[in-house]
Amino acid sequence: MTRSGQDYLESLRDGREVWLDGERVKDVTRHPAFRNTAGSIARLFDLAHDSEHTPVLTSQGVHRAYAIPRSYEDLVARRRAHKVWAEASFGFLGRTPDYMAAGATGFAALPQVFTTESFDGAPNALAYHRRLAEGDLYPTFTITNPQIDRTRSASEQEEDDLVVRVVAERDGGIVVRGAKMIGTGAVFGNEVIVGTIEPLAPQDIEHAVCFSVPIDTPGLKFLSRTSYEAQARSVFDNPLSSRFDENDALLVCEDVFVPWENVLAYRNVDASFTMWWQTPAYVNFVHQAATRFWTKLEFLTGLAILITKANNTYQLPPVTQAIGRLMGKVAQAKAFVLAAEASYENVEGGQGVKPGKEISFAQRIMAGELYPQAVQEIKMLAGGGVIQLPASAEDLLHPELGPLVKKYIRSPGHPAEDRIKLLKLAWDALGSEFAGRHEQYERFYHGAPHIYLMQQVWEGDTGACESLAQACLDGYTLGAGGVERPAPGAFPGDDPRTPGRNTAGRGANR
Ligand SMILES: Cc1cc2nc3c(=O)[nH]c(=O)nc-3n(C[C@H](O)[C@H](O)[C@H](O)COP(=O)(O)OP(=O)(O)OC[C@H]3O[C@@H](n4cnc5c(N)ncnc54)[C@H](O)[C@@H]3O)c2cc1C
Repeated sequence: MTRSGQDYLESLRDGREVWLDGERVKDVTRHPAFRNTAGSIARLFDLAHDSEHTPVLTSQGVHRAYAIPRSYEDLVARRRAHKVWAEASFGFLGRTPDYMAAGATGFAALPQVFTTESFDGAPNALAYHRRLAEGDLYPTFTITNPQIDRTRSASEQEEDDLVVRVVAERDGGIVVRGAKMIGTGAVFGNEVIVGTIEPLAPQDIEHAVCFSVPIDTPGLKFLSRTSYEAQARSVFDNPLSSRFDENDALLVCEDVFVPWENVLAYRNVDASFTMWWQTPAYVNFVHQAATRFWTKLEFLTGLAILITKANNTYQLPPVTQAIGRLMGKVAQAKAFVLAAEASYENVEGGQGVKPGKEISFAQRIMAGELYPQAVQEIKMLAGGGVIQLPASAEDLLHPELGPLVKKYIRSPGHPAEDRIKLLKLAWDALGSEFAGRHEQYERFYHGAPHIYLMQQVWEGDTGACESLAQACLDGYTLGAGGVERPAPGAFPGDDPRTPGRNTAGRGANR
């Protein structure tokens, strides 16, 4: 059964240890740094009970993200569900519950990856997927080691417990100590996975562990970054950061006890890595994320259109062309989702299908580069209006200042209140601290570019590209009798004397 928003909010009142500004937060559903965002997430749960959305968001009584896709049509249905939730936050909540749900479903599609000589995590991976689906839980994850010193492996850091590691085995489970970064949404979650998505060194055996625990597990601390929601003046002044600040927290484990049944990978460097990459977990993540990214670009482009219409610049050819560039980016973002679905692959040795890997992986490169470009384009279109705004809605309501604001901050057909409302929304999306975090998010949440760019080469079909270029080179020679010149009007490759012409195209090399 899917939960209501109210059920979800109640589940957060569990004594979890969240810290902000030197204060322990008693209740994230009531604290001014978290409550609106908790409410926005609660609304996602409520959407599943809305008769219009139930058929899209659920399948056999659980959220659709938990259904293992068996066909292309199932992938399309999953994407439609991801899109409904993405639109509810205009793409600004990245790690909604369907993100890790998609990962868990990937685990369940190929559980044997969790079976190793040292530990059999397969039953636990299946139980994890089932627990989340049946409880309609909000799963989150911290699978990035704290930066500290990136030239050293987890076990080579200058202190033993900087990165989460196993410090003891006890009856019924293990004890872990150390930290992980950046737990997006973790303070709003029901469970958090602690693991590592980057490859570990062979000596990192104590760090080669992955488990999922309830957020209120004793010894688990979440140290929140600055809250943009707390900084927001009002919804009118900061419409996005006041409601969609999904939070990022440092997770610290202080001798946390983890029961065996919550352990997915244990003292196995390979399994703690392949669980993400060999199962469909990662490509499922990208499917959700790419759908949200497409939605976010639609939203930003919509803002650009509204801003330029309000400034009466929309019809100026260079401005219309800039909108055209943005629309092209929206189409590109959409194309990556549709192409990943169309190039779906069977889960080898497991169940169902998964989005195509090549396109999914490439989405990370496209999105990380395209997002800052889109933001830049819209800032150029917006000009100074997004800065010249009253400090807060109070000025607009003030008896003396209100008439001045209304007189000088307006556009044809756009009274001050409408214009200020639009431009404050735009600045929250493009230029605020919240916006800066989003730019960093879009660049890094898929992992570090220096890794995924290399991965695109290692795992991509470089041979097809190389041999096509080579085929061109092979198509002509210096010529024994002097430099060959094409006959007037002829393409060099058409020369019947040219060896290998037209035979080594892409198809021939696959
Ligand atoms: C807003 C946000 C939300 C996030 N949410 C989550 C989350 O919910 N869960 C989670 O687990 N993680 C999350 N992440 C973390 C994300 O996965 C990492 O940021 C990402 O994997 C990159 O790791 P890093 O930040 O440690 O950067 P690093 O690996 O330290 O890399 C930073 C830069 O240093 C350079 N560099 C470092 N090492 C090398 C090298 N070996 N070779 C060449 N150059 C190098 C590169 O220029 C690179 O871009 C989030 C990140 C952000 C920004």
